Amino acid sequence: MKTDNVEYTAFSGWVDPPADVLPALAGDLTCDVVVIGGGLGGMSTALRLAERGQDVVLLEAEFCGHGSSSRNAGQLAGAPGGDLQLLNLFYRKKMPGMIRLAEHAAHHVEDFIAKHDIDCDYEPTGNTFAAVSRGQMGRVRRVAKIIEHAGGHVEVGTSEELGIPRGFLGGMREVIGGMMNPGKFTLGMRRALLDSSARVIERTKVTDVTRDGEQVVLTTPRGQVRANRAVLSTNAFAGEWDITPKHLSVPIYVIEVETEPIDPERLAALGWTSRMGLVTQHAIMENYRLTSRNTIVFGVRRLERGMSYPLPRKTPDPALVEELAEAFATRFPALADVAVERAWGGWIAITSSWLPLAGQIDANIFYSIACNGHGLAQAPYIGTLIADLIVDGERHEDLETLWMDKPKFPRPMMMGRLGLRTIWAVDRFNDLVNGSRRNARRGASRTTESTTE
Ligand SMILES: Cc1cc2nc3c(=O)[nH]c(=O)nc-3n(C[C@H](O)[C@H](O)[C@H](O)COP(=O)(O)OP(=O)(O)OC[C@H]3O[C@@H](n4cnc5c(N)ncnc54)[C@H](O)[C@@H]3O)c2cc1C
Repeated sequence: MKTDNVEYTAFSGWVDPPADVLPALAGDLTCDVVVIGGGLGGMSTALRLAERGQDVVLLEAEFCGHGSSSRNAGQLAGAPGGDLQLLNLFYRKKMPGMIRLAEHAAHHVEDFIAKHDIDCDYEPTGNTFAAVSRGQMGRVRRVAKIIEHAGGHVEVGTSEELGIPRGFLGGMREVIGGMMNPGKFTLGMRRALLDSSARVIERTKVTDVTRDGEQVVLTTPRGQVRANRAVLSTNAFAGEWDITPKHLSVPIYVIEVETEPIDPERLAALGWTSRMGLVTQHAIMENYRLTSRNTIVFGVRRLERGMSYPLPRKTPDPALVEELAEAFATRFPALADVAVERAWGGWIAITSSWLPLAGQIDANIFYSIACNGHGLAQAPYIGTLIADLIVDGERHEDLETLWMDKPKFPRPMMMGRLGLRTIWAVDRFNDLVNGSRRNARRGASRTTESTTE
């Protein structure tokens, strides 16, 4: 696969930044509720509050959609993120709630797209946990049982039965969800927000969040905002303030790359008839998906820990792009000559439990981390439920599922540079072993054929 002419972008490969970015805050203002962060989570909270007649201000450091909301792979998941076998081991009682939340979240986004008539190339294909080895196929079967037992909707099948490329043995289809252009979706939500009564202020970084009696006070470079309630929706960037609970999440940089446009006949020859997005069952996944522009977007495979705040603006490491390209050529040998055209990445937040979570720091400061790589569906849904909680004073049962009574979190394990490198190395070792087994099987069947002749 060619990687010598890749366009590295510090924003997203899906869309350009909006042309109408709003001016920075200049002076002080007051409001009832302030939302910090204009990703899918924060925008959903602000929009719902505005729709429900609340006096709401949203502050965004760059422009709404600047974060991972516009940069992700666009796979709208209908199942929770993380290692479901481990989650089932530690949080078995929570599983039915988590599965229900994940499915409701995907439907919520589908309804949002329809309600606001957002053109984001959405296809309700579902997504597949795809196996690249017999070991991964066993894992897929175990995970499917866990999800079904908890009331979720999945189907297990071979690659032929699922309509996915033959480079994968088979997998588990999440029936609910699909894929979209997340950049178009996020900018569509931004448009809906700008058309609402919410006051949106972009290019304004909140440098501190403090309390003054009953009020929350936000500091920005050129003015203060005072509010009765605040919602922290800055995802991976949350650790920048002292008020953020310790160990709430760790910031991790992940990347996606996109091929050049591929001849539709070559794409059709892959047997990818379902067009479902694919996520491999490595400890650190690889994801692959078709796009409406006849390209394939794929990525992750390595997690890069952000070690200090403020998080740097980054472009992907060319060595990782190279590594992803090699993996692509293994999964899609017929497309090994295709070039990588662009690469980008973004910061996600991983919680120590790998569960999405939400809660209150005190009576009037709310937070949520609905990410763990699955926030495309969950961030907008949880953001909306937090708005409803603020207005109604009651938690929806899906918000209850991830609610933290106390903002206390254990130090995350294996999330340092060494831990992440070790997980990556185990994946590569398994790939190597599976590759040799595959070659040995091919060699054995060739020998049998020639002996028979
Ligand atoms: C490469 C990649 C692939 C992914 N793939 C998928 C996928 O296929 N499916 C899926 O479900 N999820 C995926 N995700 C995760 C998903 O994108 C996120 O979970 C989701 O977008 C989180 O939304 P958010 O609103 O919480 O955060 P963000 O979109 O990150 O928004 C946070 C916002 O806060 C702003 N901000 C930060 N600090 C401040 C401050 N001090 N003051 C004011 N504003 C501030 C930022 O500028 C940003 O706009 C992926 C993520 C990445 C990066």
